[in-house]
Amino acid sequence: MVMKGKKGIILGIANKKSIAYGIAQACKDQGAEVAITYLNERFEKKLAPIAEDLECGACFYPCDVSKPEEIKALKASIEKDMGQIDFIVHSIAFAPKEGLSGRFYDISKEAFDVAMDISVYSLIEIVRELKPVLSNNASVLTLSYYGGVKYIPNYNLMGVAKAALEMTTKYLAEDLGRDGIRVNAISAGPIKTLAAAGIGEFSFMLKWNAAHAPLKENVTIEQVGNSGMYLLSDLSSGVTGEIHYVDAGFNIMGMPAVNTNEEGKQTIAWNGVLK
Ligand code: NAP
Repeated sequence: MVMKGKKGIILGIANKKSIAYGIAQACKDQGAEVAITYLNERFEKKLAPIAEDLECGACFYPCDVSKPEEIKALKASIEKDMGQIDFIVHSIAFAPKEGLSGRFYDISKEAFDVAMDISVYSLIEIVRELKPVLSNNASVLTLSYYGGVKYIPNYNLMGVAKAALEMTTKYLAEDLGRDGIRVNAISAGPIKTLAAAGIGEFSFMLKWNAAHAPLKENVTIEQVGNSGMYLLSDLSSGVTGEIHYVDAGFNIMGMPAVNTNEEGKQTIAWNGVLK
């Protein structure tokens, strides 16, 4: 039991398809005690059965990261109910719909600010506010996507947010390294979740990834969950500031694999038909 004796808070479970749920399950399966958060009263009801599943007990807290007072209240609740914690999972992102399709240069300042606040600044704020309750070898994990490194159709504003999130991970890792705290990100391949449904042509993104990734499939929340658990555990005690790809290898591809037929003609191995 790799996580036995560890306690942590997981932000970003919307339902059982959420990446954060995969991470929570993997941590619990390995002996961790997990606390989870919900956005507001409406989600409290929806998430109550999941909190029960994960055996969170009283450690089921409200936290809308756009409200600084709720992050402060989260720290107070953790202190009261859990004492110190050993890990934080930040699996949160949001961009207004206008930022996830159409012309990139049309994005409003308002949409830009909201996306950066919820998807990037919240990581800094959560780490700062919860630092007093973090154990001295704690591990922090956030979730990114390849669209923060290369152009991906329609990912638009979230691509810019993920680029900022990845650098935030590295700057936080350096800053908190002196306190023994590690900060890493997983760059996950596309997975059909609630948040992903907001991205224009997302189903094509899934097909493209599965067709071109070396493993010829899309990743699951269980796979991301296990990798996340590793980064939260002492098994990764020498790893910080890392952007770890869990994407069936898609990010290594510079061009699609090539086949040469009997007449010596070359075609891309992928036949152009997406399943
Ligand atoms: P998800 O299940 O919809 O999770 C996103 C979570 O963010 C939800 O729980 C949502 O809460 C929460 N959230 C949004 N605004 C918030 C706020 N103001 N305060 C607190 N929580 C807020 O989708 P997911 O795909 O698992 O996303 C988790 C993370 O993985 C995100 O950072 C996403 O960008 C990243 N990621 C996803 C993929 C993918 O293909 N799915 C790939 C790579 C990286 P509510 O639902 O309650 O609003």
